[in-house]
Amino acid sequence: MPERRPLIAGNWKMHKTLPEARTLARDIRQGVAPGRRAEVALAPPYTALAAVAAELAGSDLRLAAQDAFWEKQGAYTGAISPAMLADVGCRYVIVGHSERRRHFGDTDETVSRKLTAVIAAGLIPILCIGETQAEREADQTLQVVRRQLEGGLGTLKPATGAALVIAYEPVWAIGTGLTATPEQAQTVHHFIRSLLREFLGAPAEAIRIQYGGSVTPDNAAILLAQPDIDGALVGGASLKPELFLPIIAAAG
Ligand code: PEP
Repeated sequence: MPERRPLIAGNWKMHKTLPEARTLARDIRQGVAPGRRAEVALAPPYTALAAVAAELAGSDLRLAAQDAFWEKQGAYTGAISPAMLADVGCRYVIVGHSERRRHFGDTDETVSRKLTAVIAAGLIPILCIGETQAEREADQTLQVVRRQLEGGLGTLKPATGAALVIAYEPVWAIGTGLTATPEQAQTVHHFIRSLLREFLGAPAEAIRIQYGGSVTPDNAAILLAQPDIDGALVGGASLKPELFLPIIAAAG
């Protein structure tokens, strides 16, 4: 079985001015242990990507973007292409975050277009999927996850399968302080891995599946110890080094 290096990514959402972003990136860079097991990525807002890239230069911390449009260039006011994100130094791009689906109308179809464009630009998408509270209560979690994963992957070929990260983020756990229990999360992660095997074949074993939803220093170690949890996508706690650094350390 391939070794899956855990990926701990901080999603800063719509937070941080330039000076604040520089300080946060610097504090995280200075605080991470050199021999740590986890790969670390920071996803500041677009406005701070270049500044954070400069702060991370020469380190092994990765830059990530929170979204991308699928076209390469053109008359798309307000949009940013994957090529632009590669140009500024990104390695990862979050696609299909539940906040994009909820507030900006992203659908499985548009998420799939974004994912394909991100891979075509040589970047690694972090595809977010997860059920709402109502869907969990209606016992639809696995159907929703299957639909979002199948829809998001679209016609992705197995050969590109490993250059991909999935983030399972139950919507009811994002920013709420509620967290899936390790057992609940592992059950869905295991299901996602079986779907990846079905859709992409052998590369599924190497694909990292992050958990996201109110990850804190208190729950990180037990979540990350689950066999199919390969990292975390962290929102609120990624804005504070005193919370984010222990989460990184919890990965070993
Ligand atoms: C997220 O935005 O992806 C997230 C998981 O947020 P939080 O950690 O704040 O729940």
